[in-house]
Amino acid sequence: MQISKLLEEILAGRRMNNEEFAYLYQHADLLTLGKAANEAREKCFPNNMATFIIDRNINYTNICTCQCKFCAFYRHENDTDAYVIDKNTLFAKIEEAIELGASQLMIQGGLNPNLKIDFFEDMFRSIKERYAITIHSLTAPEVVYIAQISNLDIKETLLRLHK
Ligand code: SF4
Repeated sequence: MQISKLLEEILAGRRMNNEEFAYLYQHADLLTLGKAANEAREKCFPNNMATFIIDRNINYTNICTCQCKFCAFYRHENDTDAYVIDKNTLFAKIEEAIELGASQLMIQGGLNPNLKIDFFEDMFRSIKERYAITIHSLTAPEVVYIAQISNLDIKETLLRLHK
């Protein structure tokens, strides 16, 4: 696959397939990709216009086994201010965000050994049943941790979370 030809076709409007996406990710240099991405943005939004969305960050738990040295957020399970968010608090935060124009949620938290994949499936499902909002959530370490404590591989974890 020739990177310059591929980018030329994509910038002309052809949608790339999964194989091409992976190839560019693995082989194209960052500046070339950045330049192409900027060109694509300028085609969608000319006159140097950048767009944004309103997104709310919601933390579902501050209990975290990772205990990174720089982190002032995490708590031990027995700390008085340790929490796992309850549904009423979660929904109230989402409704407040929607009232302020949010279209997306970033839901993230600590690595809590009590929260296996069924907690996240239930949380995401209950949000989607109630609100027309995008869930853009969980960092890579959270996904890996959920997979580990749920005895799943990463692919199955991602498929279940996505569903
Ligand atoms: S993984 Fe995140 S929440 Fe946990 S200690 Fe590290 S920075 Fe804090």
